[in-house]
This record gives sequence, C-alpha cells and structure tokens, in this order.
Amino acid sequence: MKFIKIDKKDWAKGIEKSRETYQLFGPVKDKNGFFIKSLEKDVLPDMEYHDSVMSAKSVLFPQTEKMLSATLDESCEDHHIMKNIQDDYSPRAVVGIRPYDAKAVELVKLNFDTEDYRDPYWCDAYEATTFVGLGINKPGPFDFSTSTGSGPFCEDGLDVLLADLDDMYLAKVLTDKGDAFLGACGFDKVVDEKESGVMFDVLRKEAEKNITSQIDTDKLKDKTILELHEAPFWDDLAFSCINCGTCTYVCPTCWCFDIQDETKQKSATRFRNWDTCMSPLFTRHATGHNPRDSKTQRVRQRFMHKLKYFLDKYDQGIMCVGCGRCVKSCPVNIDIREVCNRMNSYEKQD
Ligand code: SF4
Ligand code: SF4
Repeated sequence: MKFIKIDKKDWAKGIEKSRETYQLFGPVKDKNGFFIKSLEKDVLPDMEYHDSVMSAKSVLFPQTEKMLSATLDESCEDHHIMKNIQDDYSPRAVVGIRPYDAKAVELVKLNFDTEDYRDPYWCDAYEATTFVGLGINKPGPFDFSTSTGSGPFCEDGLDVLLADLDDMYLAKVLTDKGDAFLGACGFDKVVDEKESGVMFDVLRKEAEKNITSQIDTDKLKDKTILELHEAPFWDDLAFSCINCGTCTYVCPTCWCFDIQDETKQKSATRFRNWDTCMSPLFTRHATGHNPRDSKTQRVRQRFMHKLKYFLDKYDQGIMCVGCGRCVKSCPVNIDIREVCNRMNSYEKQD
C-alpha cells in the first residue's frame, strides 16, 4: 500500500494541475448548504465541509439526463430514428467525496451493472470517474454508517482516501486510478507505509467512537418478506408522511428514474429523470390503476426495498450507508433507524 503526503500549501496548485487531465467535481457551498458540483476553473473543492445536502450520485446519474434523440424532419433519411447522444466520458474526479457516499456508489453499481444488463450511461460515467475520498474525523449526530457496513474511513468504492491532518493530507492510494490522479496533481512524496497505516487506524478508531447512533440488521435476513409486509406497524409509520420524496432524492443509494420523450418543433429527445417511489404517480399505470395507491404501501415499499428486498437479492447488506440525510431532511421526522430496528426486532404473533 502506498501513502503520499500532501502539504496543504501545495494542494491548490496540484488540484489545478489535475485539470489538464480531469474534469473536477467536489463540495461547494451555496445558500442552501454544501453540494457536490462540477468545479469551474479556479474553484477548489471546499475540504472544510462536514456533509453535503445532496450526495455525489448525480455525477454518475444526473437528475435529468439526455439519452437519445431523433429528427422528425421527414426530408431527412433517418427521421424518427432514435440515436445515442454522445456524452462526454473523459476522465473526471470527485475530490472530497465522503466514504459513505463512495460505498453507496458500489451498492448502486449492483443495479446498473449486472450480468444480464449494463446501463451504458451509468457505467460509462462510472468507468471515467476517480473517487478521491475524505475521511470524516468528527462524524455528526445523524451518521450511523458504522452499522451499515461503511464508516468514516471506509475504503469501499474509493480510489484514494485522504486523511486531514491539519497542515497536510495523508493520501492512502487504493487503486491504479487513484495513483494516476495523484500523479496528475504532481503529488509524489511517498511516506512510510507502516507509520501511515497506524495513523489511519488511529484516526478511524477515534472517528468511530464519535458515532453513537446505530441500527440493528442482524435478524432481517431470517424474516420472510410476507411477515414483514404484513407487520402491523406500517400504517403508524406512514401516518405523517407527506410523500414529498425528499428522502429518496437526497439518498445516495436511491436510483429510481422515469423515462420521458419530448418533442420540440422537428426534434425529439428521450430523457431520464430521477423519480421517487414515494410519489403515487411512480406506479400509476396508463389505465389509471395504481398498484401502490395508498401512502402506507409506498412508505412500506421504500423501507422493504432498502432493508429487505435488496438484502435478499444481493446478499451485500442493506441498501443504506447510514449517511443520515433522509433522517435530517424529512419534514415530519420519519427515521429509517427506528423503522429498521422495528423491522429487525419484529416477531409475528400467532
Ligand atoms: S421525506 Fe419524509 S415526508 Fe417526505 S416522502 Fe420521505 S418519509 Fe415521507
Ligand atoms: S436511506 Fe437515508 S441514511 Fe440510508 S443511505 Fe439513504 S439517505 Fe442515507
């Protein structure tokens, strides 16, 4: 394992240098908080941020994405034939992504890159992206990542993990992609592996001690879908939900989308847009029938998908990395930690 020391006084110059090869994304602040955005020239990732309102999922899965286009002009030989829109999949790097968000990318990959089907838009973007993580020295009160298989210094899904040591970053190089990115920045001060490894361990243990919020998931696998589906607590849990969809939009592991065609004069475009299982429109058929017509059905679907269907299907843990965004953002305080614990401890009464 290679470790590289980066003096903070060299940081800005190195990041600017990397633009010769990479399109950069990172945390930037606006009036509503921090967001992971494309970094225009001379804008550096704000590495002082704690957490971002939205995760980095839009780097691979934009909120609105053009998929195909066609001309409707019948004088053209290829009229009405949908064609791929060539997107830019040149190298890009997300600098300062939090470890739980990188772990989320790995969970989403299970859906977009399968043995049977490869989503070309998501996968091409994924392959073009280098993830440069920033460990969380002081996790916040909503963070329960250590009980979801992630954590403040989790390395899953990352190419480089940075530790903030006041006047320097210590970079743990995890993949060739990560090595190439640091090379493009000109960061090449290799430091002692053993000492650096110990330093990361100390930081990780210290950070993990700050995480007091936890969920229990150990019994979810043994329960049947039917018993959880029919559990008596769903009406109660769903009662206050206003179906705003915020929990799904802020979630780094939610991937639902809708596809729409739009025409304008003689051109047609097929888009995909983020959608949410919390909206009644999400499952409404063209006939008007809606298999998930009630709020209880939709709230149950969200939690069953994250905490039971995903777990059963992929055997890779639950579909939640414990970032706490949905807990923090829900206007009526519906809390996945409470739901998960209720599901985990539920025993059917005969
Ligand atoms: S954020 Fe809260 S109120 Fe809004 S859809 Fe999600 S659970 Fe319901
Ligand atoms: S379900 Fe909530 S806590 Fe879990 S990853 Fe999504 S937003 Fe974060």
